[in-house]
Amino acid sequence: MGKITGFIEFHRAKQPYRPVAERVKDWKQVMAPFPEDVLRKQGARCMDCGIPFCHQGCPLGNLIPDWNDLVYRGQWQEAIDRLHATNNFPDFTGTLCPAPCEGACVLGINDDPVTIKAIELAIIDRAFQEGWIKPEPPKVLTGKKVAVVGSGPAGLAGAQQLRRAGHEVTVFERDDRIGGLLRYGIPEFKMEKKVLDRRLDQMQAEGVVFKANAHIGVNVPVDELKRNFDVILLAGGACAPRDLPVPGRDLRGVHFAMEYLKQSNRRCEGDQVPAEQEISARGKHVVIIGGGDTGADCLGTANRQGAKSVHQLEIMPRPPETRASDNPWPEYPHVYRVATAHEEGVERVYSVSTKRFIGGEDGRVKMLELVKVEAVREHGRVIINEIPNSSFTIPCDLALLAMGFTGPERPGMLEQLGVKFTDRGNVWRDGNWMTSVPGIFTAGDMQHGQSLIVWAIAEARSAARGIDKYLTGASDLPAPL
Ligand SMILES: Cc1cc2nc3c(=O)[nH]c(=O)nc-3n(C[C@H](O)[C@H](O)[C@H](O)COP(=O)(O)OP(=O)(O)OC[C@H]3O[C@@H](n4cnc5c(N)ncnc54)[C@H](O)[C@@H]3O)c2cc1C
Ligand code: SF4
Repeated sequence: MGKITGFIEFHRAKQPYRPVAERVKDWKQVMAPFPEDVLRKQGARCMDCGIPFCHQGCPLGNLIPDWNDLVYRGQWQEAIDRLHATNNFPDFTGTLCPAPCEGACVLGINDDPVTIKAIELAIIDRAFQEGWIKPEPPKVLTGKKVAVVGSGPAGLAGAQQLRRAGHEVTVFERDDRIGGLLRYGIPEFKMEKKVLDRRLDQMQAEGVVFKANAHIGVNVPVDELKRNFDVILLAGGACAPRDLPVPGRDLRGVHFAMEYLKQSNRRCEGDQVPAEQEISARGKHVVIIGGGDTGADCLGTANRQGAKSVHQLEIMPRPPETRASDNPWPEYPHVYRVATAHEEGVERVYSVSTKRFIGGEDGRVKMLELVKVEAVREHGRVIINEIPNSSFTIPCDLALLAMGFTGPERPGMLEQLGVKFTDRGNVWRDGNWMTSVPGIFTAGDMQHGQSLIVWAIAEARSAARGIDKYLTGASDLPAPL
């Protein structure tokens, strides 16, 4: 603990963002860097608690007080070494993590928590600027071959760990570009793709082989993988979307959020989209159904495309401003949040349910009929009841369904491999991260359900250790979970 009185002297500083009027005109990252002197004082707020609850809050078990202190002292190179000891990609988490660690920070009991996430990002940004991030190819090769299916954060973290342990690693991705949801889900304004690309360059230099346009179970048979590799790691995510089967669902102009976000991300990559396939918010009344983060990503995208208006609908009531009594510290705080996309313009509507999409003569959606609802708790379960005679309509030329995901996609690879599923519909695994099929392992959303990048990385690090042990009988790889 560098400065004993830091937490008394300094207040939490707000993360700087580019001004709204400027950032909605482009796709560049909205976050702006903290000045170094401000950030070092933020590091000094860490109390280096006897029991650092932030370690527990972070699924990776990041050694947060250590690097807070190193940043306060200006020892940036030591800080990145300590950070990389537990996290392959602090650049992704420092930018995109909702920071459950901050919800568990002891200072948060009676003050604002330490700005852990911003400090994490500053460390890795500095490390890239200084040229400290270099490929770390293995010194000894094992001769064992691992296939990783899926190139999201789980696939990438698993591949990097296994390569550094000396195995031959090939990552297969069905899309035309590598990166999973980091590439085609998360918009450029949240994390620029060059952040992803520099990591892919590092991994390639370490010896990881990437194969895009390789859809396992479709254009690459599962038997080919089984024949050619000693082990398979399934990291295919959980992107089966939750649908809204109400009248009018088949009207033109009603799309899943991921169809919309993927296309927009493709355009940002420079791809041309044929006019008849274009999904654009330009000049339209947009309605996003689903009040979560995927919805917020659709919102930021719609405003950048020049939407006439945007509503974001949520079936649940507006969350409280501060923690409710059944959501105490150090749990993740379920409170009202304003994402950067919300600051850019939206009408957020709570406690409503969609009754139907109403179309015009051209077969396109024109309006939405909504009804007000109330959520009541019965025997520990939340029941949604419609309020009688409360229906109303809002204009809608583009409806985006962002109501979450039901789990991994089963047809194709998973069914052909014959893996067992959990009651929640995710891929089942044992304590060593192996599925019900020997030699086939899993990590990330495929076995967790749609979750967070930090969990995907943590699970993949643990699965990599399980695989390394399976292949060689022992492993020095760390496992946070
Ligand atoms: C729109 C959106 C925004 C999000 N924003 C955030 C955020 O800001 N912060 C955060 O922490 N989390 C966020 N998340 C959640 C986060 O992106 C995921 O939890 C994380 O990407 C999961 O990583 P993964 O590697 O398990 O799967 P994914 O990232 O989903 O990657 C899986 C990959 O596997 C590929 N694949 C699947 N099946 C096959 C097959 N048979 N053959 C070959 N390839 C296959 C898929 O094409 C995909 O590229 C967001 C999610 C969405 C949908
Ligand atoms: S990865 Fe997320 S939870 Fe862990 S220290 Fe970083 S911001 Fe906090």
